[in-house]
Amino acid sequence: MKKRIIVQFSIMIICIALIITSMIAYNLRETGINSSINTAKSISEVVKNGLTSHMINGNMDQRDTFINSISNMSNVKQLWFVRANAVTEQYGAGQENEKIRDQIDNRVIRTGKMEYKLYENFATNETIMRVTIPYLANTEGNVNCLTCHNVKYGETLGAVSIELDINDLKQVGLQSIYLLIGITLGSMLLVIFITSNILKPYIQLFEKIAISIKEAINGRFIQVKKPYKLSSDMVLFTDDFNMLLESYKATFDDIDKKLKYFIGQTTSKENKTPLDESKLIITNLSNLYQFKKEIEQDQTKEEIFNRLVQVLRNQFHQKHFTIYQTNLKEETREIVSQVGTLNFCCPSNMSNPALCRSARTNNDVVSVDFHNPCPCFTQSDYYYYCTSTNINKNTIIVINFVLETKEELQYVKDNIAFIKSYINEAAPSIEVKILLQALKDSAFRDGLTGLYNRKFLDEYIKKALPQVLRDNKKLAVLMLDMDHFKSVNDEYGHDIGDLVLKELGYILIQNVRESDLVIRFGGEEFIVILNNIDSIESALLVANKIREQVAQNEIDVYAGTKLRKTVSIGLSIFPDDGKTFDGVCKNADIALYEAKNKGRNQVVVFNESQVSSIDLF
Ligand code: GH3
Ligand code: MG
Ligand code: MG
Repeated sequence: MKKRIIVQFSIMIICIALIITSMIAYNLRETGINSSINTAKSISEVVKNGLTSHMINGNMDQRDTFINSISNMSNVKQLWFVRANAVTEQYGAGQENEKIRDQIDNRVIRTGKMEYKLYENFATNETIMRVTIPYLANTEGNVNCLTCHNVKYGETLGAVSIELDINDLKQVGLQSIYLLIGITLGSMLLVIFITSNILKPYIQLFEKIAISIKEAINGRFIQVKKPYKLSSDMVLFTDDFNMLLESYKATFDDIDKKLKYFIGQTTSKENKTPLDESKLIITNLSNLYQFKKEIEQDQTKEEIFNRLVQVLRNQFHQKHFTIYQTNLKEETREIVSQVGTLNFCCPSNMSNPALCRSARTNNDVVSVDFHNPCPCFTQSDYYYYCTSTNINKNTIIVINFVLETKEELQYVKDNIAFIKSYINEAAPSIEVKILLQALKDSAFRDGLTGLYNRKFLDEYIKKALPQVLRDNKKLAVLMLDMDHFKSVNDEYGHDIGDLVLKELGYILIQNVRESDLVIRFGGEEFIVILNNIDSIESALLVANKIREQVAQNEIDVYAGTKLRKTVSIGLSIFPDDGKTFDGVCKNADIALYEAKNKGRNQVVVFNESQVSSIDLF
């Protein structure tokens, strides 16, 4: 760069020198020409006066001697004069050498205007200036031309041509130009030398600053060495520049540190300038803040997961991923959300969720070229990135990303810190929703058997009954009560009593469809609601199946001792046996009492006659 500046500066000075030299050369030439013309004019004036004297004195025949004497003047190469027609007509043609010689003579006689021409003969090294000056008839001065000449005032009488050798003049001009060029070149070199020396440290400083700026753009803050041999202003400028660098470095280091605090680690700096990096970080943090605000308002776990899915799709451009919720204690694993078509994980219902390496180790599991850490992912055409986050002691969220190219995998690796920050932000909210769900569940469930309780039945009926009525469907209500249950408690104690109740609950669940409902109504009383039954017979069939299963079931009481129990069941149909659900339950209860009365271990279908004959002991 330094060279470039000096070359440009030199070219500039050369141009200026050339222009000045050309102007001076031109002026010298013009001065030379003007001086020659002036000399010629003086000579012509002498000739004119001489000729006039000859004429007045009547010795025109001796004019040659006069002309020759003037022609012999130094520098006068040739001199001649010619007559105009008016003079020829009045005084004759004159001598042979006074006849018009060339076009210039002719033109000057005709126009009455002076002409000059420069001849250069390089062979003889001669430079001749030919000037032809007209003699015009006038009445001013000592002589009145019109007294002798029969012409009008201002008419051309003749013209004198003088050829002057101006070689000496030319040589002087050329010498001046050479001298001028020499002086210009010398001063030019001096200027270049001085300026390059003065400019050198400035240029060096400029180059160092340019390098430092380039490095700073790429995140490397290199201080510029203080220049010596420079003005105090430049030293101050360098100090300010270094201070600016220092403050940038401190700011970016601080951002890096804070980022670590925010998202656990810094992101990849590859191909990114610190400014771009900061912009990306701030954008991500602002999006994260927005995300956090939004999930705080979400009501269900599903809403939160949906929001997370949107972020992964739109912000992180993920096309194929599956979110799993794993409970290591309960050994359950469910797909919370699946996006795209590619999923090569172990089956979601696998018996042991700990088979998922990411869930078990609570670490990220990534496909690598030389070995496959996940035993389930066997697709060599694709890549994967699994990341796990603890929601609470037992619950883990695993996200499995499937990538089609190495570049996509690298993108996930580069952005995983941000992706995790979203999951981490969502984790407490998800945990709260899981807890609330569990709380809600526990309020609706019986702690001993795990079955739904009476409270749940009330909620369920509120929602399900209008639908049943709209669809013209029927419900069967089975009211169950264990026969002589009190004696179990009395004989074997409450623990065995509880065990018997648990086993009854299990048998009930096993013998109904998933769409049916088993409720622990209270004590050793249970209600089973069979949804959408086609006839009373099919409901009776289910009830009897339950009764038989209970009767056949042997309960281990203690070492070798087995216990068999029976149930009595009352059956009533909604809406056939009552307009309200409560009414149908009451009727099922009446049928149950009938079953008890009839000797227990039996199913009794409700009919109106039982109402009148009810025996309440
Ligand atoms: P019946 O054939 O007439 O129904 O005779 P029963 O002995 O079953 O009589 P009843 O229905 O009056 O007895 C209910 C007993 O169930 C009374 C109570 O001690 C017992 N019980 C209620 N809830 C529980 C429970 O959660 N655990 C245990 N172990 N016993 C319970
Ligand atoms: Mg009872
Ligand atoms: Mg009972």
